[in-house]
Amino acid sequence: MDKTTILRQLETLLGQDKVLHRPQDVALYEYDGALDKAQPDFVVFPETTAEVAAVVRLANEHSLPFMPRGAGTGLSGGAVPVQGGIVVSFARMRRILDIDLPNLRATVQPGVVNIDVTTAVAGQGFYYVPDPSSQRACTIGGNVAENSGGPHCLAYGVTSNHTHMLEAVLPDSEVVRLGLPTADAPGYDLTGLMVGSEGTLGLVTEVLVRLVHQPEAVKTLLAVFDAVDNASNAVSAIIADGTIPAALEMMDNTAIRAVEAAKKCGYPTDAAAVLLIDLEGFTDGLQGLADHVAELCRAQGAREVREAKTTAERDKLWAGRKGAFGAMGRLSPSYYVQDGVIPRTKLPWVLHRVNEISRQYGFRIANVFHAGDGNLHPLILFDERDPAQVRAVVKCGTDILRVCIEAGGSISGEHGIGVEKREDMCDQFDGADLRAMVQVRAAFNPAGLCNPGKMFPTSKACYEVGKKHRRLPQVVAEDHTL
Ligand SMILES: Cc1cc2nc3c(=O)[nH]c(=O)nc-3n(C[C@H](O)[C@H](O)[C@H](O)COP(=O)(O)OP(=O)(O)OC[C@H]3O[C@@H](n4cnc5c(N)ncnc54)[C@H](O)[C@@H]3O)c2cc1C
Repeated sequence: MDKTTILRQLETLLGQDKVLHRPQDVALYEYDGALDKAQPDFVVFPETTAEVAAVVRLANEHSLPFMPRGAGTGLSGGAVPVQGGIVVSFARMRRILDIDLPNLRATVQPGVVNIDVTTAVAGQGFYYVPDPSSQRACTIGGNVAENSGGPHCLAYGVTSNHTHMLEAVLPDSEVVRLGLPTADAPGYDLTGLMVGSEGTLGLVTEVLVRLVHQPEAVKTLLAVFDAVDNASNAVSAIIADGTIPAALEMMDNTAIRAVEAAKKCGYPTDAAAVLLIDLEGFTDGLQGLADHVAELCRAQGAREVREAKTTAERDKLWAGRKGAFGAMGRLSPSYYVQDGVIPRTKLPWVLHRVNEISRQYGFRIANVFHAGDGNLHPLILFDERDPAQVRAVVKCGTDILRVCIEAGGSISGEHGIGVEKREDMCDQFDGADLRAMVQVRAAFNPAGLCNPGKMFPTSKACYEVGKKHRRLPQVVAEDHTL
């Protein structure tokens, strides 16, 4: 590769101010929120779809890898340029292009920050549902690529349920529009395929998102437990009762103490665990529902169920939950977060196994997670400056994911596979399953230049037929009671 020639060509296409190449300038684009790091050769900042397509065309001419990047808050190394090449940053494509309230939708560029969509329509009584805890920084393009969730996705679904239509630059530089503004577009569901594809099938350049009406009323409960098992059982009891809260989040004692030290939100630091529960709907009947859910929690051993009396009180509780990852800085220089999913009924067993793994490795683990979805986020506390700890923390994380698989769950709920969990895909899927997925990638990305080294295992053995036998739900009925 003649770097100087490519630099000149990129500058001719975009202008000098939209291309970075000096090591000290591109250093910021070496990493995301996970552990892996790798330096890109160039970082470019296109402003239009045509510019994105021109960059992709140039990369193809030089057989140079290219990968999309939003805000770099990803937690699986998805935006890390593991094979070098061109990072395509969407930082300058951050305009909300159209808001169509009567049809409950908005057209946005991929670099729009998640919370800005809700901010733009909140005054008229609407919002955008997916609310990752990183929503003040992460972008809609990154959300689409990871099929992001968030605390308030339990009742209303994740990004795939709120994406009508996409414009994308395919890996061969062709621009396509996938889906239709109306429901149920004929043909293959290519919007659905693109959502969650982690930037391996193309670069999303425009998104038609769904908006919803704000609920008439919201009640926020904080249920306080002296035993983690009781909190876990309360989660299953609430869902089994037929009540789907708008949010049902859990924090254990380690997480509560970190959050209180950082934000002083009013969580009881002596509790073994708390559940933060949002109930939404019409004003009429909502108090009755809140009382009912409080009673379900008490029946599972909650020592106290508080109800937020004011919006300020509610906001404070949620600020604590949404700032929980950052609050880990109070306890440790670094944290490594896992993203396993399990059937809710297996929560007590899995959390006990996580504790055993914590003792085995000598790492403290805080649990803050989307309990209603069974989407765990064990935060393993360690020191990234110590290479031995880095090696051990990765093994510790893998052990936790294997427990999730053993419980009949999965290795990712919302953070994606990226580089970090690509080898763990062998534990989740058998060879035929993996080959089918790789064939889809090859259909869109035959040269493999679009975000290479992501999602799929590098070990050829993983693709052997029948090497692993993925278990279907009915055979996961082993006794995991304590
Ligand atoms: C404190 C914290 C809390 C978090 N909480 C949550 C949570 O509650 N729920 C949740 O789901 N996630 C959460 N995350 C993870 C992360 O914020 C999400 O995965 C988010 O969607 C990433 O968006 P981003 O803009 O930062 O993308 P990046 O990290 O820049 O990229 C992520 C992936 O998207 C691809 N990509 C980016 N833009 C495009 C595009 N335009 N077209 C195609 N591919 C693209 C990248 O190549 C990469 O593979 C959290 C992260 C942090 C740090």
